[in-house]
Amino acid sequence: SLVITGATGQLGRLVVDSLLARGTAASDIVVTGRSTEKLADLAAKGVTVAALDYSKPEDVAAVVTAGDTLLLVSGSEPGGRAALHGTVIAAAKDAGVARIVYTSAPKATTSALVLAPDHKETEEILVASGVPFTILRNGWYTENYAGEIEKGRENGAIVGSAGEGRVSSASRKDYADAAAVVLVEDSHAGAVYELSGDVAWTFDELAATIGGIVGREVVYTNLTPEEHTALLLSFGLDDGTAGFVVALDGNIRDGLLGETSGDLARLIGRPTTPLAEGLAA
Ligand code: NDP
Repeated sequence: SLVITGATGQLGRLVVDSLLARGTAASDIVVTGRSTEKLADLAAKGVTVAALDYSKPEDVAAVVTAGDTLLLVSGSEPGGRAALHGTVIAAAKDAGVARIVYTSAPKATTSALVLAPDHKETEEILVASGVPFTILRNGWYTENYAGEIEKGRENGAIVGSAGEGRVSSASRKDYADAAAVVLVEDSHAGAVYELSGDVAWTFDELAATIGGIVGREVVYTNLTPEEHTALLLSFGLDDGTAGFVVALDGNIRDGLLGETSGDLARLIGRPTTPLAEGLAA
């Protein structure tokens, strides 16, 4: 079977949709999450639903059987995730898993990206486990910027401190389709893919695209990191969150989320979803 973790989340759900649309039998799919009530509609389609908490090796032992392929969706709480992922990897190995597909981050093992450490550690655990693997180094989701549409509509401006940095975002569905492809094809064992959108856009281009969606001129106002931090704090963000957002914009300024390898379009056999389309959806 194909065992999907994080199926209660946005990416995992889209992977299941993609597998079903590509013809994987519902009876070959096992969907898991902590809140399995969110998966009731999939159970009705004949997909097996099971509880799987990354911190509970007994959950993994109960769900994974020898020869299964497991999609391990990276956890959603940054910091300390590698230990949770390591728990899943070790338990899945004990259960005789045939391959683990892991959703990582761009250039995870060498990048200065603030999100990279958890992914680097997880990739190292996965490779050291000896279990056949496929690593999907997912770039930024276009949906991360959907919230900017309302700001553009209201203020005619979006703000940040990313400067001229580019973001090669793709839609969650694009990454989900890639995950579905590598799950069903064993030929991806041992591969590490750098996945991103085909186009790397600047925040000036993001503002112009949002302007097109909302029907008014929208400009990008670039702030210094200090100004950006102060603005976020004035909106009520706590220090940690504000620091994280500003650090990410710094990473974007440095080009860490802007590379385009073409791996994603090649895997899914079509261009990635254009920015305007991804935002409007
Ligand atoms: P979601 O937050 O929608 O989904 C996260 C999924 O992970 C949920 O199903 C959640 O289950 C599951 N999960 C988290 N922690 C655990 C745990 N301890 N045990 C079991 N399940 C767990 O995120 P997305 O689907 O949008 O994205 C998937 C992942 O990609 C994120 O978790 C994050 O690692 C990363 N990400 C990538 C971004 C990008 O732009 N590339 C942006 C944001 C995140 P539950 O419902 O039980 O909480």
